[in-house]
Amino acid sequence: MSSSTPPAAPDLAPNGEPFRVTPLENFPPPEKWDDWVELDAKSWPRRVEKRYSLIPTICFNCEAACGLVAYVDKSDLSIRKLEGNPFHPGSRGRNCAKGPATLNQIDDPERVLHPMKRVGPRGSGKFERVTWDHVLDTFAAQIRKALVEGRRTEVMYHVGRPGHDGYMDRVLQAWGVDGHNSHTNVCSAAARLGYALWQTVDRPSPDHANAKFILLLSSHLETGHYFNPHAQRIIEGKLAGAKLCAVDIRLSNTAAMADWWLAPHPGSEAFLLLAFAKVLLDEGTIDRDFVEEWTNWPEALQALAPERIAAAGGQARFDDFLAALRHHYAKYTPAAAEKECGVAAAKVVEVAREIGKAGRAFASHVWRNAASGNHGGWQVARCLHFLSVLVGAVGAEGGTNLNTADKFVPTPFAKPPPQKVWNELLFPREWPLSHHELSYLLPHLLLDGRGKLAAYFTRVYNPVWTNPDGMVWERVLRDEKLVELHAALTPVWSETAQYADYVLPMGVGAERHDLMSQETHAGRWIGFRQPVRRVAMERAGKPVEWSWQANPGEVWEEDEFWIALSWRIDPDGALGVRQWFESPYRKGERITVDEYYRWIFENSVPGLPEAAAKLGLAPLEYMRRHGCFEVKGSTYDTFKKPLAEKERAGTSDDAARRIVVKDGKPVGVLAEGAARVGLATPSRRFEVFSQTMVDWGWPEQALPGYIESHIHPKQLDPARGDYALVPIFRLPTLIHTRSANAKWLYELSNTNPVWIHPEDAQRLGGVQTQDLVRVSTRIGHFVNKAWVTEGVRPGVVACSHHLGRWRLFEEVGTDRWASALVTREEIAPGRIRIRRVKDIAPWKSSDRDSSRVWWTDGGVHQNLTFPVQPDPISGMHCWHQRVHVERARPEDRYGDVEVDTNKSMEVFREWMALARPAPGPDGLRRPLWFNRAVKPALEAYRMT
Ligand code: SF4
Repeated sequence: MSSSTPPAAPDLAPNGEPFRVTPLENFPPPEKWDDWVELDAKSWPRRVEKRYSLIPTICFNCEAACGLVAYVDKSDLSIRKLEGNPFHPGSRGRNCAKGPATLNQIDDPERVLHPMKRVGPRGSGKFERVTWDHVLDTFAAQIRKALVEGRRTEVMYHVGRPGHDGYMDRVLQAWGVDGHNSHTNVCSAAARLGYALWQTVDRPSPDHANAKFILLLSSHLETGHYFNPHAQRIIEGKLAGAKLCAVDIRLSNTAAMADWWLAPHPGSEAFLLLAFAKVLLDEGTIDRDFVEEWTNWPEALQALAPERIAAAGGQARFDDFLAALRHHYAKYTPAAAEKECGVAAAKVVEVAREIGKAGRAFASHVWRNAASGNHGGWQVARCLHFLSVLVGAVGAEGGTNLNTADKFVPTPFAKPPPQKVWNELLFPREWPLSHHELSYLLPHLLLDGRGKLAAYFTRVYNPVWTNPDGMVWERVLRDEKLVELHAALTPVWSETAQYADYVLPMGVGAERHDLMSQETHAGRWIGFRQPVRRVAMERAGKPVEWSWQANPGEVWEEDEFWIALSWRIDPDGALGVRQWFESPYRKGERITVDEYYRWIFENSVPGLPEAAAKLGLAPLEYMRRHGCFEVKGSTYDTFKKPLAEKERAGTSDDAARRIVVKDGKPVGVLAEGAARVGLATPSRRFEVFSQTMVDWGWPEQALPGYIESHIHPKQLDPARGDYALVPIFRLPTLIHTRSANAKWLYELSNTNPVWIHPEDAQRLGGVQTQDLVRVSTRIGHFVNKAWVTEGVRPGVVACSHHLGRWRLFEEVGTDRWASALVTREEIAPGRIRIRRVKDIAPWKSSDRDSSRVWWTDGGVHQNLTFPVQPDPISGMHCWHQRVHVERARPEDRYGDVEVDTNKSMEVFREWMALARPAPGPDGLRRPLWFNRAVKPALEAYRMT
């Protein structure tokens, strides 16, 4: 691995001493993990020895999938602590605060320990304990009926944090339903579309450790995507001399560590990036060979300047393309950027020159931030990747790779065929190019009369709280005609679970199986999440059939739940479901979770069987003991790989189009003097020009471009108190909705004030820190405390989306570590007010710490006041809000949230009217080359 040798840092060396990042020096060696002895800290000053089984697993508290090692006390099989796994290639033993806090989640006295069934009306807070058998029978009957009656769009699984790679896709295809819904369109769909238009692959993998210049459009170093594995490599890169530029509206911790902090007007980021591109083009600091060989520039030239081709006698010349490109982007001058973005022209030039200087070693990343905040935000990612393409940094050492090059997803033992139906509750015809499901519009679509749900599973998903317009979610989740049967699969109570028919406890990171692999760096690895107490019991000679028999209470895991449920849906195999859940080792018998992973480790992970054999272990045992495996080291330039002899057989070369063709279809490219694999785009190259955008009704977006945001300064009237609200930044210590059960984390972070610049505070009548302000959106308002700080741009206010948890009942609802007790009142028809009646306060429980809770705040839930704002192309919810800010009124109280749900549908329809619906060419619902979650069969793509 290129980043395994820590570099010296000349500019940080104290007293001239070289300063090095050191690997962990003090960790139990793996050969002692079966029986590790430590002195018990709590028994001090007595020397009491404790014997532990050390069992690796994978953190489930964000997407990064860092390695953890659980210390299981051999005397009572309790989990005493979790530390970083130093042998995990992504995290290398380093975790953020959320990793070790997994222990809080396991020991949380508020957690759901048994399956619960609602006994009062939905939302009444009345539940009783039931058996897993009852749950399985109830849902199996409901799903079976839907399948038998051909209602294959009425079974829906809606996931927040997947935490696995593909397991559930397989289950849903085995059932033959089009029912996978995700959270992606409130998260990353916009950025994904921007990347996918270039290269099909929708995620970047920056090689920070080897970069010379790093450009981040997020508070990435501290809280962003792949937070800890990336953060440590960004610092390594910096220690080796890389420069860092953070583009962030806030002075985040990342910005504070950066060489350049640029805070453009929110929504103007794409303009800024195009200004960088113009400097590169004008100064010629591009990788000419890369752009010529690896982009579809002839198509771009044809679109931009066909007259140049005509003048050259029909020949497309690369220099003409560059001239046309310079002409196309002529208006994005540094001076224009200064005007549009509010960033000094000199800084624009400075940063652009650093990008040009870094060349192939230019690493960049955007995930949420500007991409997910703005109408047209997907162009931010496209423009950012434009820079990487221009300097030839894609796939290069120190550059920005395709995530598929740095991620490993193994195949399971049998793959069901794709479903033959298309669910318009997931992919409505209005948004044919949406990158993922229009997940946050589900209640609006249901209220629009577009269907109903027979069985609805929310899994690690809390839409009432996480999504915009949560009160419309609440309305639909209460409606038994629209949602007939709802199970919340969750480790904890939540704002959504309280409206469910069943609350089904599922394990946290140390209580479940999953496979995880992420693009944390230039390398590929696979991590094995496992229920550590179950593994400890099995090591101690106490085998268990189901993980819930080893976890606290009857906490289960989804893998086994889906196997058991599928078996009951189709007990005799007549529906064709059961066959996918039969053991590959014991014909006709139900597969076990051990067998599922055993098959994968034996057959689908290159090098693992051999590595295991060297240690005298079976592959499954290797993964149980080590928790991870490095699949392959170097991953650069994968798209440049020459076609293998086998792949070349039966092909012909289309020299004019520079592609390799087989049976009329492109299967590779002719580039750099050879036939190579290329990409999966229509041109098989990076697409600077997208014919797809033209064909699907968006010709004006065929190239990387700038779309004015819905919060463009033109839309704001400062004299009226209008501001742009940036509501999507994270705190490094919290998770969106799953950290309410972690006392250590809430002790660290328990308030989310509104950031206001001092100039704006003056304009608002001398608002001071801690004063209450009312922030009004199109559909409501919230009342929060002000934090007056120069760490935010004037004209912009900001509020973290991580806090403001609430519960309706003292005994049932979101954890008391994190939530305030509130009342919910309908103060006028459709007008809902949430008002806090009790702060966070100490309470008595089995955990003595609960009586020591000293924090009272917990923050304010702003998302309830946001209308849905679906981007007309990507479908991403555009999170930023145009708001009116004023001092709180006499009737306002801290934490008040008021929403007019009558206006919600009005705003939904306004935004929907901006979309350009399918069908596209050939009567299709969506371009076939676009990826789609749980992709259906071709026949489902045709609109009838
Ligand atoms: S960054 Fe933190 S929360 Fe995310 S996986 Fe790693 S330790 Fe867990």
